[in-house]
Amino acid sequence: MALPPIATFKIFLNSTFQEEDCRDQSVETLKVSFLGAVEEVGRAAVLVETREARILLDYGVKPSEPEPLFPGHVSAKDLDAVIITHAHLDHSGAAPLFMLNGRVKVYATEMTFKLCDILLRDFIKLSGYYIPYEVLEVEELIRRGVRIEYGETIKVKDAEITFLDAGHIPGSIQVLINADKTILYTGDFSTTRTRLLHGSKFNPDGVDAVVMESTYATTEHPKREELEKQFINNVKEVVELGGRALVPAFAVARSQEMMCVLEAYGLRESIFIDGMAVKVLDLFLEDKRYVDGYQLLYSAAKHVHRVNDRRKRKQAVERSGVIISPAGMLKGGPATFYVEKIFDDPYSAIYLVSFQIPGTPGAKLLEERKILIRGEDEVEVKARVEQFLFSAHAGRKELREYLKKLNPGSRVFTIHGEPEACRDLANYAKEELDLDAIVPEKSVKYEI
Ligand SMILES: [Zn+2]
Ligand SMILES: [Zn+2]
Repeated sequence: MALPPIATFKIFLNSTFQEEDCRDQSVETLKVSFLGAVEEVGRAAVLVETREARILLDYGVKPSEPEPLFPGHVSAKDLDAVIITHAHLDHSGAAPLFMLNGRVKVYATEMTFKLCDILLRDFIKLSGYYIPYEVLEVEELIRRGVRIEYGETIKVKDAEITFLDAGHIPGSIQVLINADKTILYTGDFSTTRTRLLHGSKFNPDGVDAVVMESTYATTEHPKREELEKQFINNVKEVVELGGRALVPAFAVARSQEMMCVLEAYGLRESIFIDGMAVKVLDLFLEDKRYVDGYQLLYSAAKHVHRVNDRRKRKQAVERSGVIISPAGMLKGGPATFYVEKIFDDPYSAIYLVSFQIPGTPGAKLLEERKILIRGEDEVEVKARVEQFLFSAHAGRKELREYLKKLNPGSRVFTIHGEPEACRDLANYAKEELDLDAIVPEKSVKYEI
């Protein structure tokens, strides 16, 4: 093991503990601090310190105008491992920074690295001016990244780290760290079975501490089966009347899930998939390991038309059918092309299949039935507009069920949620379940 820098070394000898880097090698301990995702959704970054190892869990960004926000700084040379739980930019968007200098190992599943390759390049294309790294660093990250499997355990100094299927998107993991104490980082996770994924199965019973996402801590999700039926009935109505059903959807996982839902109900005529969703579909088809509903996706893929040029795009919108296309909240992507073509047709529909963040074109469409065309004219939308709240996260009930499995007295840190959501979940854990739960503060070190 490398000697600590001189200043830290002296402090070791004097047995004083003011210095941040000074770790007492004799006392059982595990520390956790938060460099982002504190009372916010975005820029996830959790630092876990055992007696010997410093492990960073996620290093994401927060989308914001005009520039994305980054988590607190930590340099590669001060870390023994970086683990990316999944490819969404709020967990991976700052990770290429570790390729600028230093040589820390970055761990993720093969699927996460492949999805990161697509999403990080797109991120640079859209916000490159504000991002302190370039494509070169993304390529480095993908090339040097250490591939891990679901269920695998690795050893980093005194820490045993196990990677668990998080059921959020293909390739997503939860991270269990076992040193003097055990700590589970849920990452984004879901315990609900969908057409694409069977959901997280890990029982957190017995862990000493849990760092938990709180995105939907105050929102009850509708039952998946009911939601699917409502969606299918609506799509059928539109198609039977000769209209076009536009389904703006996230490129990663939601688009492919919607394909699977249509396939499961036997809707196979005139289904188009466009934009980045096509690239991601091909990634999912290449690697069976990450899609639990692989057979369904495989047969759905045989029936969909892939749109990859302007001619196909025009064809898609000229006939009755279903068009699945990013962006999920109508912020850019080919979906905006389709909206311009169908907004004034009362026989067509725009079916939003996720939560719409306030301020996005999707949210405005839902609230006011209005949309900006070509970025300038605000128009009244005559097409039908409906929302179906499909989600890849645990909802209020699922989060609470998860907490019930913990032993009384276990530590709980609620992050990755709006302030009310983080507080609501921590209060529930404390008052109803006797857990030692808090909403952590940024950059405070908590001892387990
Ligand atoms: Zn996510
Ligand atoms: Zn997230």
